[in-house]
Amino acid sequence: MNTDRLLSNTIKALSESATIKMAQMARDLKAEGHDVISLSLGEPDFDTPIHIKEAAKEALDNGYTKYTPVPGLVEFREAIRDKFKRDNNLDYGLDQIVVSNGAKQSIANVCMVLLNPGDEVLILGPYWVSYAEIVKMTGAKPIVLSAGIDQEYKVSADQLKNAITDKTRLVMFSSPCNPTGSVYNSDELQAMANIIDKHPDTMIMSDEIYEYINFKDKHVSIGSIDSVKDQTITINGMSKGFAMTGWRLGYMGAPRWVAQACTKLQGQFTSGATAFGQMAAAHALNSSLQHTYEMVDAYKQRRELVTSMLREIPGMKVNNPDGAFYVFPDISSFFGKSDGSNTINNADDFCEILLQKAHVAVVTGKAFGADNCFRLSYAASEDQLRAAITRIQKCLREFS
Ligand code: PMP
Ligand code: GLU
Repeated sequence: MNTDRLLSNTIKALSESATIKMAQMARDLKAEGHDVISLSLGEPDFDTPIHIKEAAKEALDNGYTKYTPVPGLVEFREAIRDKFKRDNNLDYGLDQIVVSNGAKQSIANVCMVLLNPGDEVLILGPYWVSYAEIVKMTGAKPIVLSAGIDQEYKVSADQLKNAITDKTRLVMFSSPCNPTGSVYNSDELQAMANIIDKHPDTMIMSDEIYEYINFKDKHVSIGSIDSVKDQTITINGMSKGFAMTGWRLGYMGAPRWVAQACTKLQGQFTSGATAFGQMAAAHALNSSLQHTYEMVDAYKQRRELVTSMLREIPGMKVNNPDGAFYVFPDISSFFGKSDGSNTINNADDFCEILLQKAHVAVVTGKAFGADNCFRLSYAASEDQLRAAITRIQKCLREFS
């Protein structure tokens, strides 16, 4: 049977998620008995705080085992509404909030309801691996605006101004950013808003899932800028700030017409997210963020460790991430170098060699639209990080 012929063009055009692929390759090598350190997946190594788990158990005992309204339980949407107001100065009503099975689904919902074939989407690069692929699934055209390490991986207002056209339906970005850890500050967001507000048919998707993991400033939401409030969709979720990746809970705050369209779409795809999980997440948002801040303190210490050890490697240009839990070094100076049997021609080779020779899994920058870089997730213990970077240092010493 020619199964390839039977698969849809949509799935054939889709690339596999590089983060998930690399994490699986690391697991496979581990299963073969190799001592692999995986710094590939962006996933907190902490467990979900106990009080959140307790809230889920209580919700189960109280009968939260049924379908929920498609956009989410009122209890959870109320908590999200209050959180948006408290943390982000955003005024979303309950009918402007949609809960999904992870922020990934929220992003897919937004793209599916806003984009038609031929539409253009500006993606501020380096960008999270799934953005471009989700856009492509709709038939729209992702246009990546690139920013290198010399501009702290942040796209300038001029770049945005030169790229935006009447065909631009959506501008997508994350801040704090996956994969770079860069944070757009309030002046930079204001400059962006001043451009986009001249294009009323252009929407903004602001992915704020790393909001709490910000080492420098208080987080600013672009949706709190009045002139673009009605053009902005704010994405967030429980995965990163509360170490709840496996619970699959994301959400958006959006103009009413977008929220309604996403609810309609989700009603045909997956319905509402898990009932008892939503109750636990409501409890998490309504409680003290003490555990979150403890995790953030740990990430901050790890950032110091990781960046200082990586900087000891001659030729590696290391950024100073202000948020999230990634570092995104530029490794272009290694291209062309060889250890006698392997040559590093690009970031893919670099990551492949680190995996095979040093047994350290990281992700190629190519997956994030940055061919000169690789991403290392420091959501791992200090011991693991120290061991992994010592291995990287040793491995790269052999290349000249
Ligand atoms: N956006 C960004 C920038 C991410 O790093 C992730 C992590 N997977 C997501 C969205 C999706 O998160 P989740 O689906 O786990 O809520
Ligand atoms: N966001 C994480 C990452 O970038 C999780 C993996 C994924 O969902 O792609 O590694």
